[in-house]
Amino acid sequence: MADGALPGAEAMAEVLADVRRYLGWHRDVAGEELQASMDGALGAIAAAVSVEVTVEGSSTPPVVVEYAEVSAEPARPDTPAAAAAAPAPQPVSAPVAGDSAEAPRLDEVRRALGDCKRCKLCSGRKNLVFGVGNPKARLVFVGEGPGAEEDNQGIPFVGAAGQLLTKMIAAMGYSRDEVYICNVVKCRPPGNRNPEPDEIQACQPFLEAQLNAIRPSVIIALGKFAAQTLARTDTPITRLRGQWREYVGIPLMPTFHPAYLLRNPAEKKAAWADLQAVMARFPKPGP
Ligand code: URA
Repeated sequence: MADGALPGAEAMAEVLADVRRYLGWHRDVAGEELQASMDGALGAIAAAVSVEVTVEGSSTPPVVVEYAEVSAEPARPDTPAAAAAAPAPQPVSAPVAGDSAEAPRLDEVRRALGDCKRCKLCSGRKNLVFGVGNPKARLVFVGEGPGAEEDNQGIPFVGAAGQLLTKMIAAMGYSRDEVYICNVVKCRPPGNRNPEPDEIQACQPFLEAQLNAIRPSVIIALGKFAAQTLARTDTPITRLRGQWREYVGIPLMPTFHPAYLLRNPAEKKAAWADLQAVMARFPKPGP
């Protein structure tokens, strides 16, 4: 804490940030009906904070309450674009250790993946999208595969669905840097089509090696492909979501994919219930 700053004001600012994240997500969940009352509540909280700052003479800067808008998400076309001819097979050889004590580190997994040409997705990619975040994360999110923006930047979940995922993570009290985010397939399926079984199979040892390197407390599977791959089932996501599963002993919570939530906002309520179940079983440890 900076000299002269007041613990009370700082604590209030932190509480406000938490409330803002929580209500920001809830506004998404509940729709615009609740926006006015939430904005009112936040205004009152912000005012309370600034009053405390003023009265006690803190140098803490004023707290600005703002909501980031979620932009409308372009539909993910399911129409397959012609994939380029499959490249010559490359050995899988992901460094998977059976014993987590000997598990390779994430950077070793990345090195083993190399300039991957193990499936036909390699021919259309700009960047391989390995994963991002804390290599010691307690909480790992697994999505489906990179879209156009992720392919451009080489970072998962940075497009419209990624913005919603970032809000979901914040609503759980985490930043993107505190969790780890990756995908079932590391290269963009052409035209954002679904990943095909051979592509999932080629990438799966690397996803498993990533999870084995991190050994998180809990995994959240975003959408059908992550949930079915990790839970090793073909049960539909509508039945998987909200039900605890396990991935090699690690609790796994399947929920809807953020891209699906952008297309079906009414389902955000169910997704929030899934995230709450994770938070109830794995509360974020205090600082
Ligand atoms: N959808 C995904 O499943 N993963 C990403 O990285 C982006 C969008």
